[in-house]
Amino acid sequence: MEKFEVTILGCGSAVPNARHMTTSQLVNVHDKIFMVDCGEGTQTQIWRMGARVSALKHIFISHAHGDHFFGLLPLVSSLSLMLCRTDDLHIWIPAEMQELLERCFSRWCYLPFTVVFHGIDPTRRAVLVDEKEFTVETVPLNHCVPCCGFLFSEKPKPPVLLPERCKAAGIPPRQFGKIKAGADWTLADGSVVPNSALTTPSDFVPRRYAYCSDTAYYPAVIPQIEGVDLLYHEATFVTADEQKATFAFHSTAAQAAAIARDAHVGRLAIGHYSIRYTGEDELLAEARQVFANTVAAQEGMVLEV
Ligand SMILES: [Zn+2]
Repeated sequence: MEKFEVTILGCGSAVPNARHMTTSQLVNVHDKIFMVDCGEGTQTQIWRMGARVSALKHIFISHAHGDHFFGLLPLVSSLSLMLCRTDDLHIWIPAEMQELLERCFSRWCYLPFTVVFHGIDPTRRAVLVDEKEFTVETVPLNHCVPCCGFLFSEKPKPPVLLPERCKAAGIPPRQFGKIKAGADWTLADGSVVPNSALTTPSDFVPRRYAYCSDTAYYPAVIPQIEGVDLLYHEATFVTADEQKATFAFHSTAAQAAAIARDAHVGRLAIGHYSIRYTGEDELLAEARQVFANTVAAQEGMVLEV
């Protein structure tokens, strides 16, 4: 099975503290590395964990709050200093941030590679990356500034070729590639052997990972993330502080779990913990009362999708 996993670099909110760094993750899809958010100290976490970022090609920023992007400039600067990077780097940010960030980069970063900025509209669902084996798309959320999550989805595998059937139909091996790609085969008498008689459906079940960054409780997200294998959802507050959550456009742990339950996800990881709490036990207990298969994200945790 190809690799599909999430490494938590930071899962706290607001400011780094002794327990948590601010938000950032690495998502490895088939050994292609993506970064989701880049809070302050992200590069420290990378070097400390020995995380592999030489193949990092895309960074996705969910919204213009510092605890999700203040680590961007130092990290990108260090990619050239530490790794002698020369490949292009694509940074996907809400469109409102693009001009200012471009100016910051051109003024203060001296890079031997090109940074390609892509302004995104967080209010709309859109495919940002479309690779042969997977896609990455935006997940519109409900925060006090334009904000979106990101959905990583493997594509279904093509049908598996049945060589014996192909040989029996007189198909030369050099044509097998076309059959694998879905073509039918026409016999000498003009009759057609359908592709379905020459192949069998793959037993591969595509996996999906949804990252829901800062958001108020927002059931409108459910149709898009329905049935994902792994959901990371912010859970900044406990239920006793639900009013604070509503005021700040954040979620409680129970609300995150309700989204997981109602979207029938496989597993939930909660994060983005408020610095007012001294641990995650209460958040985790409240989430598990609603959705049992929940883990509390921690720095260094690797979650398989
Ligand atoms: Zn925020």
